[in-house]
Amino acid sequence: MQLALQDPKLWHEKSYLNGQWKESQSGETFDVINPSTGDILTKLPELTKNDVSIVSEQAVEAFNKWKRISPKLRGSIIRKWAQLMLDNAEDLGRILTAENGKPFAEAKGEIAFAASYLEFYSGEAERTYGDIIPSANTANRVFAIHQPIGVVACLTPWNFPAAMVTRKAGAALAAGCAAIVKPAGETSLTALALAHLGEQAGLPPGVFNVVTGLKNVAEIGKALCEDHNITKLSFTGSTAVGKLLMRQCADSLKKLSMELGGNSPFIVFDDCDLQTTLNALMGAKVRNSGQTCVCANRIYVQRGVYSELSNLLVDKFSQAKCGDGFDDGVMIGPLTVERGVEKVQAHVDDALSKGAKILHGGKRMERKGNFFQPSVIANMNDRMLSHNEEIFGPVAALYPFDTEEEVLKMANNSPVGLGSYVCTNNVARVWRMAEGLEVGIVGVNTGVIAGGEIPFGGIKHSGFGVEGGKWGLSEFMVTKSIIMAV
Ligand code: NAD
Repeated sequence: MQLALQDPKLWHEKSYLNGQWKESQSGETFDVINPSTGDILTKLPELTKNDVSIVSEQAVEAFNKWKRISPKLRGSIIRKWAQLMLDNAEDLGRILTAENGKPFAEAKGEIAFAASYLEFYSGEAERTYGDIIPSANTANRVFAIHQPIGVVACLTPWNFPAAMVTRKAGAALAAGCAAIVKPAGETSLTALALAHLGEQAGLPPGVFNVVTGLKNVAEIGKALCEDHNITKLSFTGSTAVGKLLMRQCADSLKKLSMELGGNSPFIVFDDCDLQTTLNALMGAKVRNSGQTCVCANRIYVQRGVYSELSNLLVDKFSQAKCGDGFDDGVMIGPLTVERGVEKVQAHVDDALSKGAKILHGGKRMERKGNFFQPSVIANMNDRMLSHNEEIFGPVAALYPFDTEEEVLKMANNSPVGLGSYVCTNNVARVWRMAEGLEVGIVGVNTGVIAGGEIPFGGIKHSGFGVEGGKWGLSEFMVTKSIIMAV
């Protein structure tokens, strides 16, 4: 079933390999489901390792031409691609809502956010400056230049079907690499629409490829890891899969970027501005129905404002309309994958059995689709499942605390460290917390912590490597030294 689009050509039901729309060699397909209704949206090709090995050969050829194109021209193609995304934001938003579930306005917001990565990297293509190094030997001149690493595999998740593709591929292509993108099977239609626009913008065949697959994800993932034509792999997804991919990449010794799971503390001090805090918290908690790797997972609230903030949050959550992303006024959509609903329910039930108190919601919604009630639970503690794992759903879990020293210890009591948030009006405290938190990103009085120019990445078991900003580009480059006797 094709969605009604202003430009129906954006709807693709085949993989995009070396500039061609292709079925799987095996003829297999998988279903793409609308998470709001459970209806099948369409079928997409279920590729196998054989398809991967063909496209990687083709991508090497494409890379050898693309890297020789002037950075200025590469940048202008990528910029045109960004513009085409913005011109088609309505249609892209519709596709994204249909397969991921997020509210249509939020989906269009993601398209603009995703285009901003292409826009940023279109400029960076011209700024891969090298260095002239003062030599220890006066008879030598020494230079360092940066070159594209080669063909890269970009494995992207279902929570940001557009932005995770452009954040990786924008940087890779600007650097002069060719990209083989494997989007999450659940949300590949958006990536295929992006491929269509990339072709229109002038990307040569083989520079940007989209490999589709759901049931065969383990086989495709392994093939990408083991392929010697591919020199770099960039993954966003769960820590467990990240570790598996790392092991599988050992023999081909790929350069890796791993943007894995988080468990973001959101810390509210008594001296904060409550309205600013509430807005930041709503953004960091309910964006994408709570399915982001920098979601406010453990909300620590100092006792002086604990009951006031809980009440304000319950008011907000009771007013937040939850439903099909295409319905007017919907703020919270379904969870993208069915197993997500079961996981959220398990987290809530576990917390209840260990002394937590439900202030609002707490159950799966009684309707078709993957809906969980927007929920607020209080009296959380560190023995609960959701203290140690991402809830990945619209559940605000509140933990009381007394002192700054205590909360810093609680926040750092996690094997992962990606996002974090601090709400306070005390500048000295901002610095103490920002420097003390064991994470990659700190939002201060804000719930928005990503953007084209901002480095994004984690530490500990949240992985390594940075996306966004000038740092994101260097992940796709290698440094070469040139030593010349004069
Ligand atoms: P999962 O671990 O099954 O899958 C995570 C991602 O990895 C998906 O995009 C999937 O397509 C891909 N994947 C799975 N197995 C793979 C393999 N063998 N080779 C290559 N790619 C593979 O998790 P899930 O059930 O989709 O989500 C569960 C948890 O994962 C969430 O609760 C969340 O903690 C985490 N997650 C994080 C992000 C993120 O942005 N960091 C995104 C999605 C999921």
